[in-house]
Amino acid sequence: MPDFEHLIYEKPEEGIARIWLNRPEVRNAQDTELLSELNDAFDVARGDDGVKVVILAAKGPHFSAGHDLAEGGTRKAEAGRKRVTSWKGGAWDGAEAYYMREKEVYEGFCLRWRDLAKPTIASVHGKSIAGGLMLIWPMDFVIASDDASFQDNTMYMGIPGVEYFAHVWELGIRKAKEFLLTGQPITAEEAERAGMVNKVVPREELEEATLAFARTIADKPSFALKLGKDAINAAFSAQGFDNVQRGAFNAHHLAHTHYRLTADGSFLDPDFAKRFKPRAK
Ligand code: ZN
Repeated sequence: MPDFEHLIYEKPEEGIARIWLNRPEVRNAQDTELLSELNDAFDVARGDDGVKVVILAAKGPHFSAGHDLAEGGTRKAEAGRKRVTSWKGGAWDGAEAYYMREKEVYEGFCLRWRDLAKPTIASVHGKSIAGGLMLIWPMDFVIASDDASFQDNTMYMGIPGVEYFAHVWELGIRKAKEFLLTGQPITAEEAERAGMVNKVVPREELEEATLAFARTIADKPSFALKLGKDAINAAFSAQGFDNVQRGAFNAHHLAHTHYRLTADGSFLDPDFAKRFKPRAK
């Protein structure tokens, strides 16, 4: 078992693994370290025949504030980490460097976790913003507390959506456009109505409700669960997700590059940029 710094890994009951995001002081902002640890934790659960289902939950007031922009997309944090895509390697710089990094630690991880050969449940409370969605959408089920809200605010940064472009599959075309182009948050109830959330429960019941849901999966044969999940995930490909993801990821990087080439070198809206000043550690 790896030594996790940003996560807690536990087995609360037979057949169930639970991973807690544990950077509450920065609202579980995702730096490369946290994402790599999460990938390792999913691997621990996958390799443990005693685990049938995996819960991803979060400590602190919010599920996740998104990518840790204070990290600044450095390559240093990736050194020595397991690779999940075949994109990395060699000397690269400029737009290529940025593209490779996000292909690996954002898109690569999301696709890998979506296809993990065991059912996964996101247990979500508080706010989930931008990259926060990328820990939720790749999971198979979402149980949300009534205080939960979800937002893709990348449009404020001049970026057309987070790096995992599942908006349409999560919300349907009409609601996905509203979600992406207005950048406004939606409540747990709205997300449930749109089909993004399986169940909404009172905040104080979230932990137990998630465990209860997990039990209804953990009592089934592991091989059948894997096959059933894989059969439903095949619909992503059949519905064209792979092509949509490629196009959206490239558009995302066109926008990244555009704002790095323009006068201020970063964000479109300076007031918004101010709110994302690196935090004191
Ligand atoms: Zn990006």
